[in-house]
Amino acid sequence: MSKLVLVVNSGSSSIKYQLLDPNAEAVVASGLVEQIGEVEGHIEHKYRGVKSEFQGPIPDHEAGLHLAYRMFADTGLALEDAGIAAIGHRIVHGGEVFYDPTLITPEVIAEIERLADLAPLHNPPNVIGIRVAQARFPDLPHVGVFDTGFFHTMSKAAVTYAIDTEVAEKYGVRRYGFHGTSHQYVSEQVAKVLDRPLADVNTIVLHLGNGASASAVRGGVAVETSMGLTPLEGLVMGTRPGDIDPGALLHLGRAAGMDVPQLDELLNQRSGLKGLSGGNDFRELTLKVAAGDERAKLAYDVYTHRLRKYVGAYLAVLGRVDAIAFTAGVGENAASIRADSLSGLEPLGIEIDIAANDQRSSEARIISTPGSRTKVLVVPTNEELAIAKAAWKFV
Ligand code: AMP
Repeated sequence: MSKLVLVVNSGSSSIKYQLLDPNAEAVVASGLVEQIGEVEGHIEHKYRGVKSEFQGPIPDHEAGLHLAYRMFADTGLALEDAGIAAIGHRIVHGGEVFYDPTLITPEVIAEIERLADLAPLHNPPNVIGIRVAQARFPDLPHVGVFDTGFFHTMSKAAVTYAIDTEVAEKYGVRRYGFHGTSHQYVSEQVAKVLDRPLADVNTIVLHLGNGASASAVRGGVAVETSMGLTPLEGLVMGTRPGDIDPGALLHLGRAAGMDVPQLDELLNQRSGLKGLSGGNDFRELTLKVAAGDERAKLAYDVYTHRLRKYVGAYLAVLGRVDAIAFTAGVGENAASIRADSLSGLEPLGIEIDIAANDQRSSEARIISTPGSRTKVLVVPTNEELAIAKAAWKFV
C-alpha cells in the first residue's frame, strides 16, 4: 500500500528532499543538492542510514532534481516503486492568496509564478520543483505548503507598514512573515510537551537557523512575527541584518552611490553574522568568541541583544506567555544563546535551569526551572514532517 510522501524543498540555492512515512513519522530517505550552477555541484543522499554522494556539474535546479531522483534508483530504491501516495512542496510565498495547504493545479502554479514578484529568489525554483515532480508523477496529488500561510491570521495592525496607503496597496507592501511551517509545528509541539490544549497555550517561538525569525502565537494562532514583506526584517541572521533603519539605505544610496542590486547584495549576502564577523556559521562564531576575537564577540552580542528585544516585545504582545521555544540549528544547539538571551528575566517569571540547558538531546524538552512561570523549551523543528502530514490529507 502506498503510504509514503515525498517532500520537495526546491529553494533558492539548494534543494532538500525527504521521503517519509507521515503516520509513522519515519524518514526513509533524504538528501541535499548544493552548489547548483557552480562548476562542481554536490548531492548527499541518505537511504537506510547509508550516505551516498554525487559530485559533478549541476547546471540548474531542473538538472539537480533529475539527478536527485536518479540517486534513489542508484542506491536501491527507485521512486516509482517506493509506494509514494503524495508529494508535498514547500512554497515560500503564498501572498494574500494561499494560506492552507493547497492541491496544486495549473491555476495554482500560475498564481505562485505571479507571486514571484514578492519572492524572486524563491518562488521560481519552487515552481521548477513542482513541474519536474509533476512530470514524473502526474497521477499523484501534489500539495503546496506555504511558508507565509501560518501568519495570515495576523491583525491588520500587525501586518501594515505605516507608509502611504496608496503606494503600499499598489505594490503589495505589507508584512507576511516566513518560516510559518516551523513556527506552527513548534507551537503545536510545545502544547504537547506541556500536556495542555493548544488553545490554552501562548508561546513565543524563536526559529534561529541561518535565517531567523520570532513569532508570538496565542492559542495556536499567530499574532506577530519578525519577518515582513521579505525575510529581511527582524532578527539578526547568518547573512541578513534583520531590522535596520530604512534611512540607512537612503544614506548608502546617496553617500555611497549604491544602487538596488548593490543594496540587495549587501542586505542578503554581506550582513548579519557574516557582515559583522566574516562568517555566517554559528559554530565557527562561537569558537572565535572563545578565542577572544572581538569582531565575533560584537556579532554575538548584537545577535543576542536583538533576540532579547524581540522576546520583550512579544511578552507585551501576548500579555501572558506560557512558553518560549527555541528551534532550528542555532536555537536547538547553542545553549549559550538561549542562556544569554533570557538572562536576567527572572523578575518576569522566566528562569532557565543551567544544567538542563547545557544537556544535549535531540528530543523536545523543557530547560526552565520547575518554578519558572514561563516554561522555556528546546523543540527540534521538523518542517518536512509537517509538510508530509499536510500532503497526506489529500491522499
Ligand atoms: P539551520 O538553518 O536551521 O540549518 O541552522 C544553521 C545554523 O545552525 C548555522 O549557523 C550553524 O552553524 C548552526 N548550528 C548547527 N549546529 C550547531 C551547533 N552544534 N552549535 C551551534 N550552532 C550550530
